[in-house]
Amino acid sequence: MRLTILGATGSVGRSAIDIVLRNPDRFDVVALVANNNAAELAELARATGAKVAVVAREDRFEALREALSGAAIECGAGEAAVLEAAQRPADMVVGAIVGAAGLKPTLEAVRQGRSVALANKECLVSAGALFMKEVAAAGTTLLPVDSEHSAIFQVFEQENCDQIEKIILTASGGPFRTTPLDEMYQVTPAQALKHPNWDMGSRITIDSATMMNKGFEVIEAFHMFPLRQDQLEVLVHPQSAVHGLVQYQDGSLLAQLGSPDMRTPIAHCLAWPRRMAVPVERLDLAKIGNLTFEAPDMVRFPALRLALEAMKRGGGATTILNAADEVAVAAFLSGKIGFMDIPAAVEACLEKLDGSHGGRRPVDVDDVLSVDEEARKTCAAWIGAR
Ligand code: NDP
Repeated sequence: MRLTILGATGSVGRSAIDIVLRNPDRFDVVALVANNNAAELAELARATGAKVAVVAREDRFEALREALSGAAIECGAGEAAVLEAAQRPADMVVGAIVGAAGLKPTLEAVRQGRSVALANKECLVSAGALFMKEVAAAGTTLLPVDSEHSAIFQVFEQENCDQIEKIILTASGGPFRTTPLDEMYQVTPAQALKHPNWDMGSRITIDSATMMNKGFEVIEAFHMFPLRQDQLEVLVHPQSAVHGLVQYQDGSLLAQLGSPDMRTPIAHCLAWPRRMAVPVERLDLAKIGNLTFEAPDMVRFPALRLALEAMKRGGGATTILNAADEVAVAAFLSGKIGFMDIPAAVEACLEKLDGSHGGRRPVDVDDVLSVDEEARKTCAAWIGAR
């Protein structure tokens, strides 16, 4: 399989490369893309025998070229080079860039009709309807990398779609599920970065701690599966063993379980419609003993409420939601605002740009990016005024 990985140096990207390196005869790596981390990208490109390696930041070109000296690997830098890498002929493109920055390159792969293993949830949160329209127009196969969506996809009977009552996305509840509410105002980035079950990039880890991530996933599921919004449910499940469930009209509740290791859903995409061997730790149910479930606490996790409200409003609301959250999470990580300021900042931006008057309804991707830009500026101004 000819494979391109966008976001190769990240948590998902490295998990995908782990699978590639364990199955060298199976994969032929076309392009690896990162942003800034030239040294690691070069190392991964050498290890996988990639044809081309690209960094988004033009000022990292020299570092990449130097790190690749002596290797027969093309290198490039800048937005145009990233888009060109995404367009190269490949059987599958893994979309694992973090943030709205992933939108254009992933869309480029979609437009070429490549099968896309989608990790970058921002494509669907920021621009869901437009993105899915392009998927349909190009006849692209879109496979979910996100573990909850992969779980649901694995037990979603397409032929019985009209017999589905609801789907359930599970959430660990993050590190602050039981922290006294008043203490949540004081939590530090180091505490918020300690996810109880998953090892992920910093943005999604903070989004998991606020549960914004689960809100994003509901929006993602809305665009990915042919269901109504009232058929999507969130259930807190601290053990992260059950990743997603589908409830049918006959009362059956089908679930997918597995260890919290992204290599399982990534391998599911890479081998689909078949499966492949992956050396993840096997789930030992006897050792786990109890699987518990509870309803999410909307007071403790206002970000989840905001995401669900934005989904209901539609239009540019979810674009604003994501952009404001990206800025607020970065500000929290750099110590500029507190943990509970993250949802407060997002709410202020939604109120200002998409309040009772209703916000803009982006008509194309450039329009999405301009709503995104406006939301970033509004959020930065809110943070600056603190
Ligand atoms: P990381 O922060 O670990 O990695 C992000 C990757 O994106 C890096 O390779 C980074 O390069 C690259 N990147 C960042 N900005 C740009 C840009 N402008 N152009 C090109 N490349 C860029 O993120 P994760 O791997 O955790 O997450 C990736 C995506 O997958 C996110 O959308 C996340 O929500 C989603 N996801 C992640 C899961 C996980 O387990 N981690 C689970 C489910 C979904 P560099 O290293 O050079 O900065």
